[in-house]
Amino acid sequence: MLQVLHQTEGRRYIESQGLRFLFLSGVADYEAASVKDSDAIIIGEMDRMEISQLLNVIRRERDKSVYLKPIFSVHQNKLQNQEGFDGFTDLTSNESIAQVTQKILARIEKVNTSIVPHDYERQVLFKQMAFLYTRDLLLDPVSSRFSKIGYTFPFMDSLLSGGSSLELLKILNTGVEKGLLTARLRDRIHTCNNCHGNYINFREVCPKCSSVNIESKDLVHHFKCAHVDVIDSFKDGDELICPKCDNKLRHIGIDYDKPSTMHECHDCHHQFQESGMVAFCIDCGKEEDTANLLENEIRSHALTERGEHLVLNGWEEKVQEGGQEAKHLSPDLFKMMLNLEIQRATTETRSVFGRFEISEIIVSVLGEDGREQFQKEILGIIGSYIDRTDLVSTKSADEYLLLFHDKTLEEAREKCELIEHNLTKLIADNINAEQDLITGTVQPVVSDLRPQDLM
Ligand SMILES: [Zn+2]
Ligand SMILES: [Zn+2]
Ligand SMILES: [Zn+2]
Repeated sequence: MLQVLHQTEGRRYIESQGLRFLFLSGVADYEAASVKDSDAIIIGEMDRMEISQLLNVIRRERDKSVYLKPIFSVHQNKLQNQEGFDGFTDLTSNESIAQVTQKILARIEKVNTSIVPHDYERQVLFKQMAFLYTRDLLLDPVSSRFSKIGYTFPFMDSLLSGGSSLELLKILNTGVEKGLLTARLRDRIHTCNNCHGNYINFREVCPKCSSVNIESKDLVHHFKCAHVDVIDSFKDGDELICPKCDNKLRHIGIDYDKPSTMHECHDCHHQFQESGMVAFCIDCGKEEDTANLLENEIRSHALTERGEHLVLNGWEEKVQEGGQEAKHLSPDLFKMMLNLEIQRATTETRSVFGRFEISEIIVSVLGEDGREQFQKEILGIIGSYIDRTDLVSTKSADEYLLLFHDKTLEEAREKCELIEHNLTKLIADNINAEQDLITGTVQPVVSDLRPQDLM
């Protein structure tokens, strides 16, 4: 076994088994180009937070030779499962990690990223599927205190800001619905309906005043005289004496039984048989009836044949929602259509005009070619969400116009919010900004509108 540790421009590489491992000892060491030039990554001694930060940046890259790169850890513990590492090395012998690396690299080669989905959620799904394929793995949820929903999903967690969430489960469900992933039920979780957290304390409370200061006591039924009361009224030192007939109760089942339990509230002195149950969310502090918690299934997933086909052949158009080509119109044609729509507007017709404006911050950093590409991508994304009858046009990289047909203002607004949400995620993910990057507005098309005021 030959192992050479050397430095190139401050970066450490380990050459072993004809492979080049990039050794990272902190987030600051990271550079996409040096990852691309290496066959695999070894992550050195780091704390949990730093490891997940590092994995986040690597796995959020767009290039498959970066985000799918084999990653090994020098820690062998539970973290290994949680973070989806490809293995462990103590750096003395790298034979086994070299073998794993060869296998994964051969499979990464086969992943087809020439056609990737437009929208953010499907991009996450595709990446996760490519990860499963290249590792020949099942996606198994791992229980974790650090996850908002109590479970982490290795790899996928790194793709979503904030880690595991109901959103992640939603994306996996989409994969199942489209026949790309199988699903096997592993657990059911209950989450807060306010913040979707899973860290919940269940409390038995007084049904009258909601106090937790309640005590439960057994009821005793004396067979001989049929007297029923709480056990306290029978207690006489270590013995049970019936307060009604003064007989001693000796054997449960023969002299007496305990037919039920009684609760008493020490605050309002209410006596009751069924206590109330409330859920207290540790994260946001909301107290809620347990019936109002959200229930979700935690499932393990595997790639279906169709899923694998998609990883090897690229994301097919027909997998996308709607599937049809969106109607991109030139601004002039769009104006004409808008005019027609205004002229035929009555109280009966339901058309809505929508507009997306993209912040200067984003557009200003793009060059001439970049802008054109960006415009195309944004049109593609908007197109994948609207219906066949809706129209979209763009005048410049920072402005997109929509004409919804046969939709209420509310329906159009919902669509716009969905598009806005996904565009924001996509852009915020690529430039790491959290501010308002996209503003979407809608207004009904009515007869006194003037197209020249709108565009
Ligand atoms: Zn909460
Ligand atoms: Zn009695
Ligand atoms: Zn009470």
